[in-house]
Amino acid sequence: MNSSPYARKSHQSSASQTIFCPNCGGDAQRNYRSQIVRTECVHCDYVMAFNLSTATVLEAYHPGIML
Ligand SMILES: [Zn+2]
Repeated sequence: MNSSPYARKSHQSSASQTIFCPNCGGDAQRNYRSQIVRTECVHCDYVMAFNLSTATVLEAYHPGIML
């Protein structure tokens, strides 16, 4: 039943979660570190780093979707 190499872990640290990538819709990882929320997608290399305290985007990379 474990068909995905990026299998979800139910007992993962609360500092990270699996979300749907806003770029390609695949599984992306969202990590919380202090006031920084960083989202990375292994499927399309999408990266977004956002500072919650200042509401600013620190880093953003939106690769084109190739279907
Ligand atoms: Zn993606």
